Amino acid sequence: MNRKLEKALRFCADLLFPPRCVLCDGIVAPGASVCEACAAQLERAEKTPGVNLRVCGQNIPCAVLYPYEGRVRDSILRFKFGGRRQYAEFYGERLARAVRRELPPAGLVTAVPLSERRRRERGYNQSELVARRAAAVLGLPYAACLKKAADNRPQHLLGREERARNVRGVYRPLGGCAAGKQVLLIDDIVTTGATLAACCEALLAGGAASVACAAVARTPEERVEKQPAM
Ligand SMILES: [Zn+2]
Repeated sequence: MNRKLEKALRFCADLLFPPRCVLCDGIVAPGASVCEACAAQLERAEKTPGVNLRVCGQNIPCAVLYPYEGRVRDSILRFKFGGRRQYAEFYGERLARAVRRELPPAGLVTAVPLSERRRRERGYNQSELVARRAAAVLGLPYAACLKKAADNRPQHLLGREERARNVRGVYRPLGGCAAGKQVLLIDDIVTTGATLAACCEALLAGGAASVACAAVARTPEERVEKQPAM
């Protein structure tokens, strides 16, 4: 379907079923993704500095869109656990802009995988949906280059030290898909960077020429240490 027709159909659908703001869930004008108040807030939040990951003796840059707090946090929770898979369009487009601004050019886009079991339970991998949308905007191919070989404990329940141990050896390269490529790896939330680092390691082991990362949100430093759930 051509882009103009797609936009017109979307506009009609929006009139019948008013779209809701990705951030605050309030009703927005047809064709809009966020309300005006949230748009103004996002403008400021998009200055979130990226991080550098140290992997296999290399510095891997990671672009970040927003701090993981407030409305962004609520929105990502609805995206991950509330079935709002349509948010991928908004986050993928915003992330593609940050990638263009901050990262070296890539040849292939991939995402941090879920385990098979988790993916079946949730019905989708939110990071993959964002990565696919970002790839389309950037004009790059998307491919699944990694698999999660084991079902480990959820990272958000663990402290900094445990997180690194928890992801060790969990991610594996899938086929030869990363070989010789400049890979852009996408995740939803970066906290200590342990998951992204483990995935970068697997991509480099799979022969990737280089890796750069991008994440929708980053947990503020003071919130990283959490007590494991009982
Ligand atoms: Zn809003």
